[in-house]
Amino acid sequence: MRLGRIASPDGVAFVSIEGEGDEQTAREIAEHPFGTPTFTGRSWPLPDVRLLAPILATKIICIGKNYADHAVEMGSVPPADPVIFMKPSTTIIGPNVPIVLPSNSSEVHYEGELAVVIGRPCKDVPAAKALDMVLGYTVANDVTARDHQAQDVQWTRGKSHDTFCPLGPWIETALDPSDLALRTQRDGETVQDSRTSLMLHDVPEIIEWISAVMTLLPGDVILTGTPAGVGPITNGQTVSVSIEGIGTLTNPVKTKG
Ligand code: MG
Repeated sequence: MRLGRIASPDGVAFVSIEGEGDEQTAREIAEHPFGTPTFTGRSWPLPDVRLLAPILATKIICIGKNYADHAVEMGSVPPADPVIFMKPSTTIIGPNVPIVLPSNSSEVHYEGELAVVIGRPCKDVPAAKALDMVLGYTVANDVTARDHQAQDVQWTRGKSHDTFCPLGPWIETALDPSDLALRTQRDGETVQDSRTSLMLHDVPEIIEWISAVMTLLPGDVILTGTPAGVGPITNGQTVSVSIEGIGTLTNPVKTKG
């Protein structure tokens, strides 16, 4: 199932997105998409509604340096254990919403990533049971002010500016995350081209590692790291991240104000 969140003339709702191409329909879900969703009976042609970020997380946990080639391009070595950091929930934006470049940064980078959306409250989950805790997968851009990240001892400022976590276009619930093509394009030029099979720590290991620290709640989002090829985005550019089996997340880039 493809789970999305939309703005329609009647308000904001979770939906199931069905069909393909120009024939896609958004079927309204009652309440929330967790467990077994029930439907209200209302639906809209997808072109008649606006797709929002598919989930509003209570927290976003990210894995740093989870692809060896990216660790190397950052002048680092691949870490033995997962390295985690967080982005605040206020970084989340939906498809086609501008990434806003902070006026106090001169180097903002895209980072295309597979995002895991948690479906059940959980703590201390062994890797063997981790995928049972997953609602589905979506596409993320872990936008980073590289200069702020470099200036500070830790990464919070560089990772946390408003609009720095585009998510979407929807959550795919029926997907094996272990070997998916991941591609990032900047103004149509391919700048990242990799596969999720190249993660140093896979999705089950990541969930085990994070849930040993903190309780994960339905809707929480885990960004699984970016492959090599990160680079700057500037005012007027467009960045698109595509993941096999999910779709493409596109956002324009603009300066503040
Ligand atoms: Mg990242």
